[in-house]
Formats: sequence, structure tokens, C-alpha cells
Amino acid sequence: MGWQKRLMKERILIVEDNLQSMRLIEMTLKAKGYTLLEAFDGEEAIEVAVRERPDLVILDIQLPKMSGLEVTKKLRETPGFAHTPIIAITAYAMKGDKEKVIDAGCDLHLSKPINTRELPALIAQMLQQWRRDSV
Ligand code: MN
Repeated sequence: MGWQKRLMKERILIVEDNLQSMRLIEMTLKAKGYTLLEAFDGEEAIEVAVRERPDLVILDIQLPKMSGLEVTKKLRETPGFAHTPIIAITAYAMKGDKEKVIDAGCDLHLSKPINTRELPALIAQMLQQWRRDSV
């Protein structure tokens, strides 16, 4: 990989209050060379997002302080975040979950346990799509 490509490696914000899940997601993405940012509750998610301007957000929906749905709605109203890819993750996928997170403004819904092979592929795909759209 050339230095130019390396410099362009994307920043991914992972929002997850469960440390084990956080580490699992990080492990699946570590080898891909992304810069990984962490937030452990909804308020921190907004703070880190605004400060660090991630290229993609992986967002647990059940979070302390502010739910993932509220985080999504807030981010979508924040300048610069209208189209940032957001992947929502829910622990107990119930009927209607998918619709709820998509309505809130997430781009994709995944249920736990996350598929560690599928996740990096989906992320690469979404980032590529996003790059293409924002040219
Ligand atoms: Mn949670």
C-alpha cells in the first residue's frame, strides 16, 4: 500500500457500552488499517463524533445516557453528518427494530451477535459507496 492510500485510511467511530463487544468489533477491523475511535455512551458518541469527524459510525442502539436512536437523530441534524454511514447494532432484534433504526436515519441494521466476517466487508462496501457519492 502506498503512502497516499495509507493517509486516506478512514476513521471509524465505534459506540458500544459493552466492553467485550467493543473489543470484538475492534478486533474485526484492526487488520484493515482504519483509525478506530471509541465512545461508551450516547453523549460521548456525539462529543467524539463532532470532535473527530469519523467517516463511518458503528452504533449500538441500547446505550446509557442517550439511546442510539437519539444519537442518530442528533447526528443527522449536525452539519457534516447528513450522509455519514451509520450502522446500527441491536442486541435483541425484535420485529420493527430494523424499521425503527432506518427511520431514525441509520443506513444499515445488524443484530448481535455480529458476524465478524461480514462486518468488515459491509464497512468497506459502505465507505466505497460513500466516497463515490461524495465526489
Ligand atoms: Mn448496549
